[in-house]
Amino acid sequence: MRPGTIKDISEQLVKAGRELHEKGLVRGNSGNISAKIPGTDMFLVKPSGAPMKFLQPEELVLADLQGNKVRGGLNVSLETPIHAAIYKARREVQAVVHTHAPTATAFGIAKMEILPLQVEMFMLLPNGVPVVPFEPPGSKALAEAVQKKITDYDALILENHGIVTVGSTIEGACTLNEMVEEAAKIQYLVMTLVGRDVLDLTELKEKFKTEKTVE
Ligand SMILES: [Zn+2]
Repeated sequence: MRPGTIKDISEQLVKAGRELHEKGLVRGNSGNISAKIPGTDMFLVKPSGAPMKFLQPEELVLADLQGNKVRGGLNVSLETPIHAAIYKARREVQAVVHTHAPTATAFGIAKMEILPLQVEMFMLLPNGVPVVPFEPPGSKALAEAVQKKITDYDALILENHGIVTVGSTIEGACTLNEMVEEAAKIQYLVMTLVGRDVLDLTELKEKFKTEKTVE
């Protein structure tokens, strides 16, 4: 590991956490964020109870792929089992972001998947964002349910809870989180205009396949 790697990643995570707060994707102590330390089986994760808005680089906790704390003064985030489960299932994933993005969270409460209705969303999320059935926060059952689903999707909704996105960079995982919330807002508007008639993933795939790529 290059000297300074942990410091660099800590700083990137803190900056990303502040941006998630500024964009309204997290509030108070909600949500958590993590990133792998390249070349190791460890990751840095937000500590339990720390608000993203005021997070400091030295507060981040180093954890292993079992979700246990390796180093740090504070306890790991409650949802660390989800992060560990994802890193085990998807070796290429470098960052995981969990938020309670309000519109996307509402879709999870309504037990409705989010579909990529807008063409550029389709490129990012071609299979949409499915709902993982409710399991208590921090539970092994929730981590296992997420691990099973994340093999086929880069974004998931946790029923009555929030959303999880992954990426090959911290920025990528954060951007996807923002895009899922945006897709949820668009879908909500479409449903208020025309109901659920346009919500067919097979039709969307057919339509976007035949149209020219957006410049
Ligand atoms: Zn949560």
